[in-house]
Amino acid sequence: MDCIFCKIAKGEIDHNRVYEDEHTVAFLDVNPAVHQGGHTLVIPKKHYELITDVPEEELGALLSTVKRVSKALMKFGHGVNVVQNNGKVAGQVVPHIHFHVIPRFEGDEVKFCYWDVHKLDKEKMDEVHEKIKSLLNE
Ligand code: AMP
Ligand code: ZN
Repeated sequence: MDCIFCKIAKGEIDHNRVYEDEHTVAFLDVNPAVHQGGHTLVIPKKHYELITDVPEEELGALLSTVKRVSKALMKFGHGVNVVQNNGKVAGQVVPHIHFHVIPRFEGDEVKFCYWDVHKLDKEKMDEVHEKIKSLLNE
């Protein structure tokens, strides 16, 4: 498969690896969200596209690496954002699941697309409530 993150996991292309273990690799994003750098991507060594594709054990390992990287980046900056996009419509560009761990600094230039809030009437809220509960039981 021609996947850039699979190639990084296998060490086939140049990258700045900061951590690896049995299931995961963490490396620096080539286009960091902050000028200070340190924006890190955490990926599974095996190819999965979406969070919903990853077996529980590997997802646990991914989150554990996200926590480890976050701990380091909390010391590098003053806070972190963990961002994980699934699907084109959600902004996923590379179709190999990855968590962004972005160090944040006072007054930095990061702009996330924060959302406008919507008020749903009670009827709509109840309808969605039932729908999501039933989807969770599928
Ligand atoms: P996403 O929009 O969530 O799919 O993010 C993909 C991220 O991968 C972007 O932030 C890119 O800058 C980053 N990226 C793409 N190719 C590479 C690469 N070869 N090495 C490091 N980061 C990369
Ligand atoms: Zn891949």
